[in-house]
Amino acid sequence: MLFDLRCPVCSAPGAAPCAGCASQLKPAPDLPVPDGLDDLVAPLSYTGVGRELVARLKYRNARAVLPALADAIAALVDPATVDVVTWAPTSVARRRERGFDQARLLARAVARRLHRPGRALLQREPGPPQTGRSKRDRINGPKFTTTRNAPRRVLVVDDVITTGATVLAAADALRTAGALVVKAAAAARTPLKATDELSDAAGDG
Ligand SMILES: [Zn+2]
Repeated sequence: MLFDLRCPVCSAPGAAPCAGCASQLKPAPDLPVPDGLDDLVAPLSYTGVGRELVARLKYRNARAVLPALADAIAALVDPATVDVVTWAPTSVARRRERGFDQARLLARAVARRLHRPGRALLQREPGPPQTGRSKRDRINGPKFTTTRNAPRRVLVVDDVITTGATVLAAADALRTAGALVVKAAAAARTPLKATDELSDAAGDG
């Protein structure tokens, strides 16, 4: 157990999240798996307490929230269907600014829980961060290249899925590098269709 553990949402001591906040979490919206992915799972809706929880991971590096989110993601994935767990790296500028890559942290934690290797397979091509870009640019999404041949079955972990542009771009690169099955898993998914207006803090897509 960690000492001085506090709920990252309301700061109550004892658990991350506390029982009260956990009871307000909503399940991810029932949206279709986008073409280009073999599966897409997420335990939480990126709204209310769920949004606050994931935002702590993203913007404040609250490591206390990481185990709970990794547990919830791993519970939705059958380890027998995955050879390697990876992540879509955030931009170099964003990582420098924050000092960490929340997708990498989450992917490694999920990999440990699934007893599968967590490996860096993707590199992000330079470009502006997703937040603050126009809706059209975000839907076009980032571009990735692979650093090595991809394993047959890959799970891409991200913190939030909004349009799916980031994980779809990651899936494209992985398939080009030889992956046959690409699944995605995120802590939360926004209750928006890809064509809907995106919220300001929706993040990397
Ligand atoms: Zn709380």
